[in-house]
Amino acid sequence: MTKKFYVTTAIIYVNALPHVGHAYEMIATDAIARYKRLTGHDVFFLTGTDENSLNAERKARSLGLPTQHYVDEMAATIKKVWRKLNISFDDFVRTTDERHRLACQEFFTRTYDAGDVYPSTYEGWYCVSCEAFYRAEELMDGMCPVHKTKPEWLKEKNYFFALSKYQDRLLQHIEANPDFIQPEARRNEILSFIRGGLQDFSISRSSVRWGIPVPIDPSQVLYVWFDALINYLTGVGWPTDLTRFQHYWPADVHIVGKDITRFHCVYWPAMLMSAGLPLPREVFGHGFVYLRGERMSKSLGTGVDPGAIVDDFGADSLRYYLLREVPFGRDGDFTWEGFVQRHNADLANDLGNLLNRTVSMVNRYFGGVVPTPIGAPTGPDAELMALAADTFAELERSMNALAFSDALVAIWQFVGRANKYVEESAPWVLAKSDRDRLASVLYNLVESLRLIAHAIYAFVPETAERAVEQLGIELEIGTNWGQTRQWGGYRPGTRVIEKPVPLFPKKELPS
Ligand SMILES: [Zn+2]
Repeated sequence: MTKKFYVTTAIIYVNALPHVGHAYEMIATDAIARYKRLTGHDVFFLTGTDENSLNAERKARSLGLPTQHYVDEMAATIKKVWRKLNISFDDFVRTTDERHRLACQEFFTRTYDAGDVYPSTYEGWYCVSCEAFYRAEELMDGMCPVHKTKPEWLKEKNYFFALSKYQDRLLQHIEANPDFIQPEARRNEILSFIRGGLQDFSISRSSVRWGIPVPIDPSQVLYVWFDALINYLTGVGWPTDLTRFQHYWPADVHIVGKDITRFHCVYWPAMLMSAGLPLPREVFGHGFVYLRGERMSKSLGTGVDPGAIVDDFGADSLRYYLLREVPFGRDGDFTWEGFVQRHNADLANDLGNLLNRTVSMVNRYFGGVVPTPIGAPTGPDAELMALAADTFAELERSMNALAFSDALVAIWQFVGRANKYVEESAPWVLAKSDRDRLASVLYNLVESLRLIAHAIYAFVPETAERAVEQLGIELEIGTNWGQTRQWGGYRPGTRVIEKPVPLFPKKELPS
């Protein structure tokens, strides 16, 4: 039986277009989803948009547009950006969807019936961009620590969720399940936050009209975070399609930014406990991609437009660069110099040239038909084969740990070894002296490229497709991974493309 795998990203606000920081989370999650599909899992990859926020309403008003009209346009545009980056999501929840309203209202009713919701008055500093209250001591010089803008003093009668009641159960769960919060640093932050004492939090707003009405009091709407988290249930059919829900839930991993781990590792599990639903298996809080040392931010107007990069370089250059350069879980810097350097050195030179010269030589020496290897493998052949096996072992280890950059380092070591194999075997000399040996060398190079294409598929899917196309074969996605990754899968006698096409044209630093 195929194993299911349910993976999610956070849903993004619709008040501005996504920048490279958001693209990073999508690309990383897409790599997980594609790797799991490749290795035979029944994957469900969910993303979406968080549309019931005060920010969306204000932005629409500033543009003189009806809010619904504005969020429709933004959701469509955001989806287009993700498609451009080859993000292979299976569903896209918009929190203005009718199915999501139903899920939220059912969820609220469950927590209310469990005795975990009560009315009370709340006042405090509220950052509209964060959609969160701050304690006075959390502000920096009176400003939101994230946005550096002045928060508003809000006072209203709200419904509260009895988070404090779940403090002990949460601690027990996190302690008993070391993988529940990753990486380790996030886990320690959350543990000390919970040990510091949990306060009940307000889950409704009376001053806002845009949002999902509270079932027992339609004069209020649900707090946008309470509503947003529930999208992970909406996406797998809760509460109407329980067969689908029970198949995919609980989520295997929620991928989120490290700034919202508190919502996902404290509020969300407590809400699920209250509603009597199983908890996700893991929450992974990744780091940020900085630009010139500053966090990219839509509200601050700083960021790099991923759509423009794709137009200029292609999706895979950006995907490769971000996953290779930033160890997942830590922070990293986007630099144009580093980006163009990776594009030219790793993609155009190392990988692109290996494919190009291999296909050219099969055409030049064997009329485009890949020969059968002849004779026993030599020392370098055996080394190449052994390294291929090691590369897949490392791919598996690092993908299970979500260590994408480790996986890419290992794959590119294999690419480097294959390039060295060309040099030490010197096919252009063998062409005059030893046709049998030449046949083995070219077969081994083609087979190495077949394996490389499968190994890189999760990270740079378009490149993997284009590579196998030039080798005259197709990618095997989830058919029989144990066999696909074995040496020798390429069938001799197959015809490669007649004129190889460079995978990556070399690029100059944009001016
Ligand atoms: Zn803020």
